[in-house]
Amino acid sequence: MKPAHLRRHLQLAAVAATILLAACASTTKPGVVGVQRQQLLLVSADTVERMALVNYTQQNQKAKAAGRLVASGSEFERLKRVAGRLEKQVGVFRDDAMKWNWQVTLIDAPILNASCGPGGKITFYTGLIRQLKLNDDEIAVIMGHEIAHALREHGREQVSKAYAQNALTQAALTAAPDSAAQIEAANQVAHYLYELPNSRQNESEADGMGLELAARAGYNPNAAIAVWKKMNAASNGKQPAEFLSTHPSNDTRIADLGALMPKVAPLYEASRKN
Ligand SMILES: [Zn+2]
Repeated sequence: MKPAHLRRHLQLAAVAATILLAACASTTKPGVVGVQRQQLLLVSADTVERMALVNYTQQNQKAKAAGRLVASGSEFERLKRVAGRLEKQVGVFRDDAMKWNWQVTLIDAPILNASCGPGGKITFYTGLIRQLKLNDDEIAVIMGHEIAHALREHGREQVSKAYAQNALTQAALTAAPDSAAQIEAANQVAHYLYELPNSRQNESEADGMGLELAARAGYNPNAAIAVWKKMNAASNGKQPAEFLSTHPSNDTRIADLGALMPKVAPLYEASRKN
């Protein structure tokens, strides 16, 4: 039997090694835009995806009950078409995402927002499409950006930070299906997934990867610059763009996007020849 202090040291070393191993991972391949930061991933992808699915299902049920779920018509078909083309390109960043159960939700509400949850659960609001008068290229760069957050598992990183701070209890995360505890846990996870502002670093990663997805899918990556100008203009008007509260922008963003164009423009040109 080892002395108690040695056992404690070994336990601490094991915990530290686990955290280091978890921290020394990148969820995605770099692509031409070259995103390869190591990530802190303490909570399993399965746990986060399960909680996100509970939340996505609830969101869709609520929208349906309110008569706001748009599951047909030209706007919905446009979104599905763009999503279908982008989904075919996700293998450049991670192979497993090709097999995700991708879904598109369109909610009829005057909200300037869009998201993509873990496992490929895309949500758009009609307010974003109509008020910003988005064309297909613009929808593609926004959707590409959102898909990049999901591929990169930025939400899981946020949840991992909260987990490290003990904000989410293990009990809540392992709650039984359909229990009140599970829905509560799902709401907490959703808070970290969708409501907290992304870091500048996450935004920069999603911008680059989103542009690459759009370009490979045959959408003009230059549309990103128009989108951000429209978004900024809309946020100066009466209605704040919710998108900007979770996707903080700054003055250098448009310049940074411009600097990425030489990397992604050849992909766009190549895709148009196919
Ligand atoms: Zn973002």
